[in-house]
Amino acid sequence: MEQLIVRLFLALFALEFLVEFGLNELNLRYVRARWNERKIPDFFQGKIDAREYDKSVEYTLAKGKFQRWAEIYGRLVTLWVLFSGLLPFLDGFSKDLASRFLPVMQAQGIIFCFSVALIFTFASLPTDLYATFGLEARFGFNKTTIKLYLADKLKALLLAIAIGVPFLFVVLWLMDATGSHWWIWAFLFISGFQLIMVIVYPTLVAPLFNKFEPLKEGEFRDRILALADQVGFRTSGIYSMDGSKRSSHSNAYFTGIGKAKRIVLFDTLMQQMTTDQGLAVLAHEMGHYKMKHIHRMLVIQTVMLFFGLYILSLLVNYRPLFSAFGLENPSNHAALVLFGLLSGPVTFYLGPLMNLLSRKHEYEADRFAAVTLRDGKSMEEALINLTIKNLSNLTPHPWYSAYHYSHPTPAERIRAIRQYSA
Ligand SMILES: [Zn+2]
Repeated sequence: MEQLIVRLFLALFALEFLVEFGLNELNLRYVRARWNERKIPDFFQGKIDAREYDKSVEYTLAKGKFQRWAEIYGRLVTLWVLFSGLLPFLDGFSKDLASRFLPVMQAQGIIFCFSVALIFTFASLPTDLYATFGLEARFGFNKTTIKLYLADKLKALLLAIAIGVPFLFVVLWLMDATGSHWWIWAFLFISGFQLIMVIVYPTLVAPLFNKFEPLKEGEFRDRILALADQVGFRTSGIYSMDGSKRSSHSNAYFTGIGKAKRIVLFDTLMQQMTTDQGLAVLAHEMGHYKMKHIHRMLVIQTVMLFFGLYILSLLVNYRPLFSAFGLENPSNHAALVLFGLLSGPVTFYLGPLMNLLSRKHEYEADRFAAVTLRDGKSMEEALINLTIKNLSNLTPHPWYSAYHYSHPTPAERIRAIRQYSA
């Protein structure tokens, strides 16, 4: 049985790798082929010059080539963690450590989960460092200093401990104490926790990393307040964020629910756009709020959590699953880690479905912006502006974008906006 489990996992793992790697190659070739036609893509003619187009292609190709190696490296790390005997070693190590210093039973589980997470974090450092200080810096995007980078990592680690330890403690305790229906209790606890995080993240966590300020007085602010009034969005929930501290990429987003909901505009975005374009972006974000997109996504996540925990409850005492990866005794903490590592090649195929839904939301928000402002042109210009400034890929392979993109391509969005406006 153990052999069958390992073989099945390896087959799914290899398939996931082939799909991921293949899509990236397909995209690289497609971008190069369009580039060789020496013609600026539709919707961008007259908006982008040849030099800017060249630069966006170079950036896309550089990222794609890096992705090749990052993909292979990441897979090797996962295989190493699963098959090198590391898991049984950490299991023993955490048991020793916990029995020596900590009285609670869940301590071993918490140490085990954290050591595995720490190993993945350290293993991702080389690719992360290169992406930030090599690739992004080469194209003029990176603004992070080594000092800020290290401070960010340290903060993230402390935060993971502050939130992760009590969270894991409760989950492990529920698994242990509530009998065979533990997964329903865990489901209730984790969904409640998720809901709290949606509120706590924008108001308490994100401000640890960035400064959020109300918009400065002026024409832009006045027009935003008028728009917010018209739409019924609480005007105190609109912020500017110092994104330029780390990167010159620009963006805007809508987050949170209830009183914690807010629209965040990067300072980089406000510098790059005209007032009309900025207002269109804001109307788009208000569209996400009006259409209840965050609520919908939360419901879907909750349903997936329910099924995920149910499946985990079937596997948690299944001995061969543990021995297949060198673990002598089934344990709740090892079940959590194994489930996390092994479910990737299965849930991978849910990614494009979630992206499909997310793209549907983006179309809805665009439509809302175009209709509310009675102006599709500014939204169109904002999109083109964002695409050029961020050196986004103008010509992704259709399969690649369908699989990986949470937003429709700029061309797809512009085509749709022209339809709404007509
Ligand atoms: Zn959006």
